[in-house]
Amino acid sequence: MKVLIVDDSKIARMGVIKSLKEIQPEAELFQATNGLEAVELFKKEKPDVVFLDLTMPVMDGYEALKKIIEIDKEAQVIVVSADIQSEAKHRVLVAGAKNMYPKPINKEIMTHIFEQDLLL
Ligand SMILES: [Mg+2]
Repeated sequence: MKVLIVDDSKIARMGVIKSLKEIQPEAELFQATNGLEAVELFKKEKPDVVFLDLTMPVMDGYEALKKIIEIDKEAQVIVVSADIQSEAKHRVLVAGAKNMYPKPINKEIMTHIFEQDLLL
């Protein structure tokens, strides 16, 4: 399984990777630091799952989500953001994200994501 982790914060990426490795130790990981890199890596690697931050330089997560869904409407994108307003969640769900969670993602939330949100 290929997983793309997108966040401009290295600490935030490491947090996702830490909990992900506890659940999916065999996953092949790719990282991007902004939306543009994320879209390019999505095209190239066709990851099974994308963890996507919203607030990033160059291209934000909303724009990246839109482009990823344009490339593959079945893309499985989980938004992970400090912005926990219900408006933000509504917006990303309408745009095609599978779900949205506040930072940080722990092992329990990661387990829930793989059991409830994703089709793998
Ligand atoms: Mg950010």
